[in-house]
Amino acid sequence: MSEEQSKGPATRLAEAGRRKAWTQGIVSPPVWRASTVLFDDVDALRDATRRADEVLYYGRRGSPTQWSLADALTELEPGAAGTTLHASGTAAITTALLAVLEPGDELLMTDSTYEPTRVFCDGMLKRLGITTRYYDPLVSGADIDALFGPRTKAVFLESPGSLTFEVQDVPAICAAARARGAVSLIDNTWATPLLFPAISRGVDISILSCTKYVAGHSDVMMGSATAVPGLFERVRKTAQVMGQCVSPDDSFLVSRGLRTMGVRLAQHGAASLEVARWLRQHPRVTAILHPALPDSPQFALFQRDFVGPAGLFALAIDGDDAARTRLIDALRHFGIGFSWGGFESLALPIDPERIRSAVPWQSPGKMVRLQIGLEDPADLIADLEQAFAQAAQ
Ligand SMILES: *Cc1c(COP(=O)(O)O)cnc(C)c1O
Repeated sequence: MSEEQSKGPATRLAEAGRRKAWTQGIVSPPVWRASTVLFDDVDALRDATRRADEVLYYGRRGSPTQWSLADALTELEPGAAGTTLHASGTAAITTALLAVLEPGDELLMTDSTYEPTRVFCDGMLKRLGITTRYYDPLVSGADIDALFGPRTKAVFLESPGSLTFEVQDVPAICAAARARGAVSLIDNTWATPLLFPAISRGVDISILSCTKYVAGHSDVMMGSATAVPGLFERVRKTAQVMGQCVSPDDSFLVSRGLRTMGVRLAQHGAASLEVARWLRQHPRVTAILHPALPDSPQFALFQRDFVGPAGLFALAIDGDDAARTRLIDALRHFGIGFSWGGFESLALPIDPERIRSAVPWQSPGKMVRLQIGLEDPADLIADLEQAFAQAAQ
């Protein structure tokens, strides 16, 4: 094992992407704003054109600010060849799918996928002549094999699903895809490579909404796609021909967030378990959907494949939509809003049964998704307790 490979994840997180050749030794890569780059003469311009992915060339191809972030994300996924950055997590997902699919192809998509991913498949991909077949996220490796047809070119996973939290058998599904010559892609936003190093578990393209845990401060949008050798070039070319780029200012913020992602995730994860355990004994709670609770249905898979828990989970309550609304409105420390992965706690009413198409979602009650932030868990628990009391009146 080389020194690079043997580094622990925390060390990797501190050191990744800091190439002296790019930053002259400055610890955090500065914001290099650029459109035009000036060359000494026409020869130098032609040389840069030939090596446009390696040297400063034109703002759209990025600067050391973006390169260092992409490099750092690649280093977090052992086995990866490179990372592309995108204007949002959604843009990373759509670009990666367009990179691997062509008209006439079929895509296998987990039924637990993030809703905008489904909208893209059912709209744009369909219009391009690419068929999407939704599959049960809990499919076994053997059963997914039976779903592959001659036109199936890719399988997309999201584990755990960001509303319903099913843990997928990622290594088995990806091995089946590889045996069929199909590409596997995962939305790895919940776990990040720190809790689930997707590429070393067999995935070809690992996608993050960096808006969430990587940035971590609810103030910037970004996405990334990290791919194995052979596919990285395809994703990069696709992003380039579509003119995609991210701003150096946003990259600076995401890079800054990345350095503390390990300690934040540890805190989010531990606090989410503490809150989930408290909720589980509450008489109004009919179910907790948290993959790291030992009695969760896929706990064995979670223990086998994941390093630890993240901070996002869901609960179900008895009562109707009005009762759920009263509960959420009564919370004081939980904000009401989309997204997650920032330092602050959030609560959101969710209705996964509205979205599913392959396997109907049997909801165990009216569902609420909680993002557990970095506040004191005791305050969050007290807040939930008073909100349940208030909602019951
Ligand atoms: C938020 C989210 C996305 C999309 O990311 P954006 O940066 O908001 O576009 C994709 N997948 C999951 C699981 C998410 O939670």
